[in-house]
Amino acid sequence: MIELKSYLHGEWVSPQTTALLVSPTTEEAIARVSADRPSLQTALDFGRKVGGPALRSLSFEQRGAMLKVLSKAIHTHREELIELSLTTGGTTRSDGKFDIDGASGTMAYYAALGTKMGATNSIVEPSEQLTQDPRFHGQHAWLPRHGVALHVNAFNFPAWGMGGKLAVALLAGVPVITKPATSTCPLAFRIAEILIATGVMPRGAFQFVAGSAGDLVDQLGPQDLLAFTGSADTAAKLRSAKSVVSRSTRVNIEADSLNSAVLAEGVSAGDDVYRTFLRDVVKEMTQKTGQKCTATRRIFVPRAMMEQVIEDLSAELSRIKVGNPANEEVRMGPLATKQQQTDFLAGLETLKASGAKVAFQHALSLVDVPAGKGFFVPPTLLRADDAGSANAVHTHEVFGPSATVCAYDSTDECIALVERGEGGLVCTIYGEDREVLRTLLLGIAPFHGRVLVVSAKVADKTIQPGLVLPSCVHGGPGRAGGGEELGGERGLRFYMQRTALQGDRALLDRFFEASKS
Ligand code: NAP
Repeated sequence: MIELKSYLHGEWVSPQTTALLVSPTTEEAIARVSADRPSLQTALDFGRKVGGPALRSLSFEQRGAMLKVLSKAIHTHREELIELSLTTGGTTRSDGKFDIDGASGTMAYYAALGTKMGATNSIVEPSEQLTQDPRFHGQHAWLPRHGVALHVNAFNFPAWGMGGKLAVALLAGVPVITKPATSTCPLAFRIAEILIATGVMPRGAFQFVAGSAGDLVDQLGPQDLLAFTGSADTAAKLRSAKSVVSRSTRVNIEADSLNSAVLAEGVSAGDDVYRTFLRDVVKEMTQKTGQKCTATRRIFVPRAMMEQVIEDLSAELSRIKVGNPANEEVRMGPLATKQQQTDFLAGLETLKASGAKVAFQHALSLVDVPAGKGFFVPPTLLRADDAGSANAVHTHEVFGPSATVCAYDSTDECIALVERGEGGLVCTIYGEDREVLRTLLLGIAPFHGRVLVVSAKVADKTIQPGLVLPSCVHGGPGRAGGGEELGGERGLRFYMQRTALQGDRALLDRFFEASKS
């Protein structure tokens, strides 16, 4: 059985006391993980004093070269990692690839960005004359903060969550302490081993905590950063941490989201756009067993299309084979933990109590699973014919393979219903009519971090809504946490301090010559 160690101040550290992790498919014990709540002050100091200066002495180009090696290392171990994801996380091969390729792909993207940013280590904005004197200018410069970035990640993307955040922080020149979720830590732990074994990261640039984050959040200081991904409840706790409230530790929160798929008025069954809509909804409901922050939870359709949409989605969902992800026929595995299984079933009851009705529920004859074992749940489609009064549909995230089809009577009503989610990561609009698409887009965009518009010309070329690309921002207002990650160079700025510099233009220009070329 694997013992999950932490990597602190340049060495692997075994836990004092341990708890067992079990396979979500068979419930057999698979790993031992720390049950301690350690004091990690020395790890913070090590990152700040040893890792920070070493990283800041490198240019973007050099940090990019480092990321290239890290990305390749993950890719080289791809098969082993997919297998590990399958056995310890209960993901299908395809779901495991999605996570692992997400990590190596994001790292490769930021490696290339580093090369493009060149032999400098600051970002400089254009300068502006401040007084009558043309010599006296002001300009904004971004320099890496002198603290440590604490990355706290959710259970559902042990590879991508860790690799994506790490790539951005390292390229910005800030050392990282990463803390994956405990339940799916085995995959993150193996990736940490692989990354460290490359030997390309300076000492102190990367530390890894298996198990509790201990006192790390409380110990963060004014130059440190906290990038959190997880539930709204934990986010609320971390926002009120002493470090955040009293020392202004900078925080980025990526929380939950009731993502929407909107079928615009004017689309008919049989249109290419309609086919893409069905394909996407089924994928977003069932990929990673619906445990994606970007998974579709609410499906808005014109009332006249309700029955057709439910019939077509039900037919697609009934074909999904659920069971042991090691079996090649299986398209959907279990949830990651027993608690999540309990929460999913309770969540469905909450939606039903609020007025939603079950429109389809998968029969769940499990493939290749020991009798009575595993944290499986049935893909479930709900319907809300009076979507305005089904409050929980717009406020309660059921984190598994479930979504609710909501009827609307006008485009304006649809926009108002989408807004009831109080801020989301992604909304996808499927439509043919340009004016309808424009009205939906302008109404919905301010409430989301990302809006994907699927019109006839791109219906067969579009990406799936749940795919987070490193070139576009990820995050969203309100319920989604109010944060923003990735987005190419934009993502680096979270880890850097913007300072307004005022003085002799020629002198300032000379300081930052390389940044401007
Ligand atoms: P969670 O229970 O909030 O845990 C998230 C992380 O926080 C885990 O690493 C957890 O560690 C850690 N944590 C919990 N309490 C902490 C504390 N007091 N101090 C420091 N760290 C603490 O969330 P989850 O169940 O892993 O993830 C599911 C949720 O994440 C869903 O709501 C989903 O929508 C959201 N999510 C959002 C995004 C996004 O990008 N917006 C992406 C993925 C998931 P332990 O595991 O050790 O408890």
